[in-house]
Amino acid sequence: MDKFLLHACCAPCGAYVIEELQKRGFDVTVYYYNPNIYPIEEYMRRRDESVRYCKEIGVALKEGIYNHEEWQRIVKGLEQEPEGGLRCAVCYRARLAHTAAIAKDGGFGWFGTTLSISPHKKSEVINKIGTEVGEEAGVRFLAEDWKLHDGFKKSCALSRTHQFYRQTYCGCEFSIRKK
Ligand code: SF4
Repeated sequence: MDKFLLHACCAPCGAYVIEELQKRGFDVTVYYYNPNIYPIEEYMRRRDESVRYCKEIGVALKEGIYNHEEWQRIVKGLEQEPEGGLRCAVCYRARLAHTAAIAKDGGFGWFGTTLSISPHKKSEVINKIGTEVGEEAGVRFLAEDWKLHDGFKKSCALSRTHQFYRQTYCGCEFSIRKK
């Protein structure tokens, strides 16, 4: 069974993608690496939901380091970008490049992300970045648009079934201000 490291931003986005990957025969480990989330209380709330769900279904979860100041430094100058713009591309790259490196170190044959399940996110941008950082690290990236085939709708249904906490903004402080 191929080992797969799945970058997940939260439990609502993770549940459906984990199921789909398991159906394809992958041995999934979730990687919760989201230094973009602000404030830290929100980061912990989303993390705790992911930990709770993974425990419930018997899937391993690793947590990356939360360093929001470093993330702010990476997106400096792009604070006024709209959601889905340049700041988001930089944010995806930071999270996916790190996930690829962790996958390589951990002996995972594959990695991927839940991010494309969001109707607000362009899968072509995410998949291009994922493929590039995967090639750089030497790990295969699974390019998917998880919102297709009613993926987003199914993830919402799973959220209701498991009574997940559902956030009202993407993650960073700039996505709160623009609501
Ligand atoms: S809006 Fe979301 S994807 Fe875009 S920079 Fe903020 S946290 Fe990252």
